[in-house]
Amino acid sequence: MFKASLRSHLTLWFAGLSLLTLLSVGFYVGHIATEQMKQASGNALLNTARSAAALLGEQLRERQLEVYLLSRAPHLERGDLDNPAILKSMQLRTQARAEYAWMGVTDAEGQVHQAVNGLLVGQSVQQRPWFQAGLRGEYTGDPHEAVLLAKLLPGLPNGEPLRFIDFAAPIRNADGQVIGVLGAHAHWNWVTHIVESATFSHKSSAPDIEALIIDHDGKVLYPEALMGQQLPVSDAKSPGWTVGNGYLTSMVTVPTPSSTQLSWSIAVRQPLETALQPARLLLYKLLIAGVLAAVVFGLVAYYLALYLSRPIEQLARSAKQVQDNQPGAHFPLQHPVREIAQLGQSIDAMTQSLLGKERELQEANASLEATVAQRTAALTQANAELLSLATHDALSGVYNRRRFDEKISEYTLLSRRTGRPFALLLIDADHFKRINDTYGHAIGDEVLQQLAQLIESSLRTTDFVARYGGEEFAVLLPEIAQPDTPEVVAEKIRTAIAAAHFPEVGHVTVSIGVALADPADNSHTALIKRADQQLYQAKAAGRNQVASHNTTPTSTSTSTTL
Ligand code: GH3
Ligand code: MG
Ligand code: MG
Repeated sequence: MFKASLRSHLTLWFAGLSLLTLLSVGFYVGHIATEQMKQASGNALLNTARSAAALLGEQLRERQLEVYLLSRAPHLERGDLDNPAILKSMQLRTQARAEYAWMGVTDAEGQVHQAVNGLLVGQSVQQRPWFQAGLRGEYTGDPHEAVLLAKLLPGLPNGEPLRFIDFAAPIRNADGQVIGVLGAHAHWNWVTHIVESATFSHKSSAPDIEALIIDHDGKVLYPEALMGQQLPVSDAKSPGWTVGNGYLTSMVTVPTPSSTQLSWSIAVRQPLETALQPARLLLYKLLIAGVLAAVVFGLVAYYLALYLSRPIEQLARSAKQVQDNQPGAHFPLQHPVREIAQLGQSIDAMTQSLLGKERELQEANASLEATVAQRTAALTQANAELLSLATHDALSGVYNRRRFDEKISEYTLLSRRTGRPFALLLIDADHFKRINDTYGHAIGDEVLQQLAQLIESSLRTTDFVARYGGEEFAVLLPEIAQPDTPEVVAEKIRTAIAAAHFPEVGHVTVSIGVALADPADNSHTALIKRADQQLYQAKAAGRNQVASHNTTPTSTSTSTTL
């Protein structure tokens, strides 16, 4: 499994968590801001709609009141529909107010009796809704295109048809009978202008808002472009704002006198896009800030991770070095983070102690090896000495009796196989007892040592010498060939000893018995016996002689006896 470093772990976790946190906070704040923005914009729209509705309602009421008051003029009440004072009053009002397109008086049959500028005088308006409604009571009507007046009045500059709203009030006589109708047409422009101007002052604070005039069915009366479209009628009891069709809309009923039954609403709406623009901007800003902050956090985390992980990485590296037995492992001992410093110090101490133990162990090993080598050498030497002790005579240094017995058996076997004979010489010091007695045992020992040396130096390296008994030596000669026959060798020994000078003692002689091995012998005992007999012969013949089975004992003139 891939193992990421501590550094990348820390960095990724830090950066990831901070990004997650900042994004969540960003989205949450953005959401709240959106809701608040909706609320604020909705309230602003509601205020705008309210003020527009209030203004419009007031204006409409005022016009309605004007028409009503005119219809109650005393001349009219008396039935004098053609009185010029009425015309005068109507002229004064239409001149004062540009919104009036027409104002006139009709009789109960719809015949126009008099009107401002004489328009429609003498014509019948009996079919006009305002007239019919005016007979019944006060009336303010929905806008409509000019019918009769279209030809009589100048058109609008933009070429649109003339549109009016109508005001009417019944003319009653003193008995209360309806004798005519007073009607007035106001330009629709005037109404829309009121709404626009009421809305306009709010445009700076709420961009893109538009005001709509809605009739009692929820159909749009204004603006022209949306005319006839259905808009949901706002709940008059709880005026507020709604969200729909991509708009934030606030609708308020225009307060009009109940007598007129006019039921309009003012809707002020703003595209949601525009209304929520600040919130959206805020959200974007927050998200960008979040990402930037996450990058900064990531960097900080990276450096923090570096700061924390560097000593741990070094610890790991050094520990690996120690594990691989590589030199130069170094542990960080100082670090502001207590645990890291503690870890470094502990591992360092552990390593030092480990290395110390290892050194001690190596030294102990080395000394142990030296001791073992020393002991082995001593043992080898002791073994060699033991071997030498086992086979040699301690006093004279030549082989001992035990070795002699082995050797003579070996020679006997060999001789039997090869058929070649070997010889045995038994050498006995003459009157040795006297030497001991005269010079002491120690001098006797020295004589024995010198005798052994003299015998050895008279022989070849292949010959074998052993101390056979107290002052007796045995020599085995494996090869018998001319001119060095056993007798010649024995004689050489006898002569060498007889000629030698022994400190303190002077001269010493020996007697030698020589015998040849016989393949017919059952054992070497026979050979020894024969040699012993010859020795006895030599002694008997006066000592300092060599006696052999084949020869008579020889003596020399220099033989001396002590
Ligand atoms: P012969 O000529 O008949 O051999 O006379 P001899 O005196 O040599 O013979 P004998 O057998 O009577 O005496 C041998 C003596 O050798 C007796 C003993 O004290 C002596 N002897 C034996 N072994 C040792 C020894 O290791 N050291 C010493 N100093 N004397 C020894
Ligand atoms: Mg003897
Ligand atoms: Mg002797």
